[in-house]
Amino acid sequence: MQEVLNLIGYDIGGTKIGIGIGNSNGEIYAKARIENKDTKPETVLPQMVTTTLDLLNKANLAIKDIKAFGISSPSPADIPNGIMIAPPNNPYWRDVHIKEFLQNALGIEGFFENDANCGMLAEGFFGAGRGSRDAVYLTMSTGIGGGIVANGRLVHGKGFLAGEIGHAVLDPGGPKCNCGLTGCYEAFCGGRALAQRMQRELADWPDHPIIRFAGGKLEDIDLVALEKAVRINDEYAVKLWDEMCLRNAQAFGILLNTLNPEKIILGTLAWAAGDLFMEPVRRYLPRFAWKECIEACELVPSALKREIGSYAGLAGALNALYERGRYQLPW
Ligand SMILES: [Zn+2]
Repeated sequence: MQEVLNLIGYDIGGTKIGIGIGNSNGEIYAKARIENKDTKPETVLPQMVTTTLDLLNKANLAIKDIKAFGISSPSPADIPNGIMIAPPNNPYWRDVHIKEFLQNALGIEGFFENDANCGMLAEGFFGAGRGSRDAVYLTMSTGIGGGIVANGRLVHGKGFLAGEIGHAVLDPGGPKCNCGLTGCYEAFCGGRALAQRMQRELADWPDHPIIRFAGGKLEDIDLVALEKAVRINDEYAVKLWDEMCLRNAQAFGILLNTLNPEKIILGTLAWAAGDLFMEPVRRYLPRFAWKECIEACELVPSALKREIGSYAGLAGALNALYERGRYQLPW
């Protein structure tokens, strides 16, 4: 039996920063969230340190009891150096050396990983991917981030850009993507892209059920409003949903035939919509992947769901220790 490692995890989100103290078995001793909407790093970074020390106190631990911390960060980022380059939701954070700052302030070793990879690792160590040596995780939220574990290892790629399945081009004649390419998977199926499409297409249709479900506001349309309209069989909504499920199946097909994974773990949309999403996707899959690859793979919703952020940074730290031979996988 290997020792249980105590770890600190940071989850840097667009509006909140989650901080959790826990261990390598996935037990969380204490956690907190601090505001991160339009903040400046010079205020928030010291606040992260004081909150961490408070949490350690609450958990009856001292900093010397902690093996390492992990930071789950939005892209773009300099992964090996732990620098947040330009997080999309906050104009004040530019080239923030967050890993170095926290290492100096806390006096322990830290690691840094992108948030989709941390999502994969969190599900892999503590959730739906536990025990799986070949798995893929997709965030399925406003954007589509991805993380890949192959042969029991997180795939980083040469420049730490592996796993960006959301920006695989499914159709060069498709919609323009924020990343600069055209027809990306995310441009078809990401929550933000779909919301923008609906806002455009329903602009002259003010009494449409989707707008009603969005509280009567065109600008508040989201996937939740779309899902509700699908459930009452609205023709436009059903057609759009079906198209979205087909494009998801196409993307999963690429993953299935490329990686032959044992599990594809799906974030927000899959656990929120359930069979309304999973059933058509499963039906379309044989068009995009070999039978053997489909049969070998379980398509499952995230097990950690909304709580995934509490585990993301911890999982990033644990994986970094594993990659350095300082933690053994129990499977
Ligand atoms: Zn793209």
